[in-house]
Amino acid sequence: MKIWIRNGYVISMDEKKEIITQEDIVIENDIILFIGKNYKGSYDKIIDAKDRYVLPGLINCHTHLGMSIFKGTNDNYPLDKWLKEYIWPIEDQLTDEDMYDTTLLSIIEMIKTGTTCFNDMYYNWKGSMKAFSETGIRGVYGRCLIGEKEEWDKREKDFEELYQSNKNDLIKLSIGIHSLYTTNIDSLIKGEHLATKYHLPIHIHLSENKEEVKTIKNRYQMEPIQVLEKYGLLKHKMVIAHGTFLSKKEINLIKGKDISICTNPISNLNLGCGISDISSYRKEGINVCLGTDGVGSGNTLNLFYHMSMVDNLQKGIYQDPTIMSSYEVLKMATINGAKALGLENFIGSLEVGKNADIIILDIDEIDKCTTTNPIIQIVHNGWNNYVDTTIVNGKIVMEKKELKMNIDIHKLQNKMKEIQERLK
Ligand SMILES: [Zn+2]
Repeated sequence: MKIWIRNGYVISMDEKKEIITQEDIVIENDIILFIGKNYKGSYDKIIDAKDRYVLPGLINCHTHLGMSIFKGTNDNYPLDKWLKEYIWPIEDQLTDEDMYDTTLLSIIEMIKTGTTCFNDMYYNWKGSMKAFSETGIRGVYGRCLIGEKEEWDKREKDFEELYQSNKNDLIKLSIGIHSLYTTNIDSLIKGEHLATKYHLPIHIHLSENKEEVKTIKNRYQMEPIQVLEKYGLLKHKMVIAHGTFLSKKEINLIKGKDISICTNPISNLNLGCGISDISSYRKEGINVCLGTDGVGSGNTLNLFYHMSMVDNLQKGIYQDPTIMSSYEVLKMATINGAKALGLENFIGSLEVGKNADIIILDIDEIDKCTTTNPIIQIVHNGWNNYVDTTIVNGKIVMEKKELKMNIDIHKLQNKMKEIQERLK
């Protein structure tokens, strides 16, 4: 199957090229075959991209896709209380089938808003993996490893079952260590051994708020990153979710290593955690990428919204509008995300030979009137239903805002209602 995306404004995120070019893109099966002017070859399908913007699919580097039933549930709860009193008791009752439905709903939201790859950490993987396979979405999945002793061991065993059973080429696995505050030293050592045994990256929540940093310092008489260093975790590829409060000493410890920080600006604001000083991390050469977190706190999987927020927050806290550009923010949601997940040779930019994860944006009638700089317009207003077409691994999953997947939305709505009623 050859798809010709004709004459769009291409924002390739390829550093070797100009930021915006007007070109054709041709996909053959799952691969980008051609990018250039005036394609003359054969094709099976044509997508007219005139006056539209063609970008790499967005990458959400920290989320919990099974949490879609928690959307719009957090108001006035601090992180610790929210998790212990509200989230964890309900999560415990979710079945594999529930997880299939809740994950499916998140996948639909991602596809509609231009996200083609995710970094998920959650439970009940059987339901989630079924939803991934059926929809053909790309991602990295970490079975959440949490707790101590037998509790951890039970989850580790479950991860090993997942590892043996995963036959989906589009889903890579990670070692999803929940956090330092929900594990102990033994668990961390076991997590490190797992990463070594299976050659997998680590995905961990860390330093989400000041309370957590205080807890870890009291427990270990060390800063959180020092704990990871002491037990050998920093030698692995890693995505640190949040990293809202990292000291200079901690940044120096991760500098130059294959470790990325995934900032989740809206979740951090919603839970009253604070604002991460990612500009200082970027200055030190740390790869910073973007996440939504679960929708219980992030409230939307629409990464455009989070892009706009992270840009404005940095400009606000520094009282300096030059601290970050919209293009840098777009990198966080594309190529930086790909690097964080070890997928930069396959996705994150539009280049010949890479996998065809592509979105086509149609700036709406009103915004078009004022579009002098498309990058700014896309980063700050892209949440406003710009995504017209979404392609994952060469497969069109949404075209002209219409989902091309075999999903009965009404049935899904009813099932979600049933889950919410049951778990009230
Ligand atoms: Zn999270």
